[in-house]
Order: sequence, then C-alpha cells, then structure tokens
Amino acid sequence: MSTFSAPKGTYDLLPPDSAAFLAVREAIAAPLRRAGYGYVETPGFEHVELFARGVGESTDIVTKEMYTLTTKGGTRLALRPEGTASVLRAALQANLHRSGSLPVKLWYSGTYYRYERPQAGRYRHFSQVGAEAIGAEDPVLDAELIILAADAYRSLGLSGVRLLLNSLGDRTCRPAYREALQNFLRGLDLDEETRARIEINPLRVLDDKRPDVRRQLADAPLLRDHLCESCKEYHEGVRALLTAAGVPFTDDPALVRGLDYYTRTTFEFVHDGLGSQSAVGGGGRYDGLSELIGGPALPSVGWALGVDRTVLALRAEGVAPAVPAATDVFAVPMGDEARRVLFATVTELRRAGVAADFAYGGKGVKASMKAANRSGARYAVVLGERDIAEGVAQVKDLESGDQVAVPLDGLVADLAARLGPGAAGRE
Ligand code: ATP
Ligand code: MG
Repeated sequence: MSTFSAPKGTYDLLPPDSAAFLAVREAIAAPLRRAGYGYVETPGFEHVELFARGVGESTDIVTKEMYTLTTKGGTRLALRPEGTASVLRAALQANLHRSGSLPVKLWYSGTYYRYERPQAGRYRHFSQVGAEAIGAEDPVLDAELIILAADAYRSLGLSGVRLLLNSLGDRTCRPAYREALQNFLRGLDLDEETRARIEINPLRVLDDKRPDVRRQLADAPLLRDHLCESCKEYHEGVRALLTAAGVPFTDDPALVRGLDYYTRTTFEFVHDGLGSQSAVGGGGRYDGLSELIGGPALPSVGWALGVDRTVLALRAEGVAPAVPAATDVFAVPMGDEARRVLFATVTELRRAGVAADFAYGGKGVKASMKAANRSGARYAVVLGERDIAEGVAQVKDLESGDQVAVPLDGLVADLAARLGPGAAGRE
C-alpha cells in the first residue's frame, strides 16, 4: 500500500482486467479500419474556447464538467471532455478537407475528462473510441457509421445493445420546433435552473431524467411532427439502409443529445444491464459545427463509444472477449547453462510470434513449475543438465500433464507446430 491512491472518479486498469479493455478498443477500431477510416490523435488539452464554442456554452459539459487550467503564460486550456471538436479542429488546421475527396473519414481512441459525480459507469477519466466522417451529406454515411458500431458490439459477443434513433431536424425546421417547445415548456412547473435552460437550450430539457419533470413532458411537442420534407426524406433514407443491413433500431422521438451542434440523424446505443448509466455510445450528424469553430460549411456525422461502459456491458452479460493468451510457453531452466539455452529459445519463440515467458531469478524447479501453471501457458519447457547432455528438452503439456523429450535443435519448430496456426498470441 502506498501513501497515495488514484484520484476520486478514476481507476487503474490492471491485468488481467486490462486485457478486456484493450480487446474492446480493438473490436471497435477493426470495423472502422476496414471501412477506410484513418487514425487521428489530438492533444489531451485544447484551448478552452474550442470546447466552449464547439460543444456549446449551455451544455453540462462546458458549464459544469470541464477541467480547466491557466498556464504560466496565461493561456486558458481545458482537458478534452470529448473528441469531436478536437478532431474537426485538427482536420481543418491541416486542411484535410481540401487535400482529398470528401468525406474525410477519421477514427480516434483516447481518454477524456469530465468533472462529474462519480458512480458506477460514470468516471472523471474515461475512454472512448470515436469516428467522424467530415464534409459529406449522404444517408449512406450516417447508416455506415451506425452499422460499424453495431458490428463492433456484435463482434464482441454483446447481444443486449439496443439502438435508439431520431432526427433533430435542420436549420429549416428546427427553429419553429424550438419555439413550439419553448411555449410548451414555459407553461410547466419547473425549477429556476430548468426554466433558464428553456431559453438557452430547450431540447436539453427533454433529456431531464427526474420523474416529476418526465411526467410533465409526456405531452411535449415532438420534433418528429415538425420535420421539413428534406429532413424527413433523409431520415427515411437512413432508416431504410439500417433495415436493409439487418441492424434493428427503435425510433425514439424524445432522444436528444447533450451537445448543441447536432442536426438530423441522432442516435444512442444503450444497454439495459448497466443501471442508470445505460448509454454505451452515441452520436449523430453535426452539420453546423465546422462553421461554429471558424471553418467552412462541412456537414459531418460521427459517434463516440464508451470503452469503460462497454467493458461493464460485457461483464453484465457474462461475456469474456477473446483475449490472446498472455503466455503459450513457459521456460523452466535448471542451472546456468540451461538458463542460457532456454532464454535463447524464449527469444526465438517470441520472434516467431509465440507468447513465451521465463522462470526468472534462478528459482528452484518447484517454484518455477508453480509460476508456469499460474501463467496460463499451455506448455512448460524444462531443461536440466542431463537433458543438455542428451541434446533434448522436456516439453510438458500443462493441461494433460503428458511430457515428451524433444530434440533441442528442433524445439522452436516443434512448439510452434504443437500450438498450431490458431494458437493464442499468434498474429
Ligand atoms: P451520459 O448521458 O451518460 O452523461 P453523454 O451524453 O454525456 O452520456 P457522450 O458525450 O455522448 O455521453 O459520450 C459518448 C459515450 O461516452 C457515452 O455513451 C458513454 O458510454 C461514454 N461516457 C460519457 N461520459 C462518461 C463518463 N463520465 N464515464 C464513463 N463513460 C462516459
Ligand atoms: Mg454526460
């Protein structure tokens, strides 16, 4: 025990649990790579103003959840609370939207910071994998992203992820709806803070989770009934493509996003095994964001999936993601000469793509075999002085207990063959 512990709202990722975390990141990234998304990495902090404008002055993220700091030089920075604004900023800064054909398709993976009330599934430091398709307006793109996320969840073996879908309208139809909603909300019995929200970001009020507010919202006007023709047509296009791809969804006319810049397609992936932190991922179209941060008009769509909550969803379903074995072969040398020979074997195995480990520190054979069993390896390779004299090593199958003598000069090939092409740990 050290004098220190991890700060409130954070946790350490340690083996063996950290393997599931990596597997989730990889499972989300793989479909994106196959669909032509390129990897982007942005700084962990940005100018506060980017998020204030890009995420929205009236959002919880900006008003309550940002970690801000002033540098010694007087620059105001914020730890990134989300990825979209940074990724778009980076794409605009590098002129990616002018250097090739549109859309620019990017994916990212990283840690994000929000000063929230910590609870299960809600942390102050958490991880997301995200994807953005910048500079094109086409229902195929919205559908593509949703399908890629659904495929990622499926590849992990999750069966309880549900997709909620809505359209938030656009510059044409949203203002009239906003006004109708404000008129409705002004007539309700709400607290001071919520009343203020009606004037700044009324759609956010629809997201209120408190039962007494929810009850009053039952008759709220829905954007669905106010969509303009082109938004309707676009939304029908997305719905038809999802259906054709066999991705089930639920129309949720009350689904709004916490971020101001979303237009048209909006969606959330939820999992019912997570208690109140049920959102495992979300996203949508953000046609106005580029202009908000000083760029040209670049209609775009994207999502961010929460890695932490996806791991919790796997746990809730009792699904263990396929994780490569940490060790296939464990080397147990007896004596200095055996240490030299077996360490060379271990190095060669690793170079051949076999996960191999070693009994370090000159342990006795009993302690070494215990370490071998604990490592989860399939085979132990034991080498003593007599074996060296005979030019063999003892290969012990740790599952069956069978042991055979294998010639030293064919040892690596023999082990690789025993483990087979599908061996865990193999690329
Ligand atoms: P919530 O409504 O739960 O606060 P959000 O709308 O703030 O979610 P987004 O900004 O859309 O979430 O982020 C996308 C995903 O990132 C979420 O669906 C969730 O899985 C994850 N996420 C967001 N905030 C946290 C957090 N504080 N801790 C862990 N995961 C988070
Ligand atoms: Mg939130």
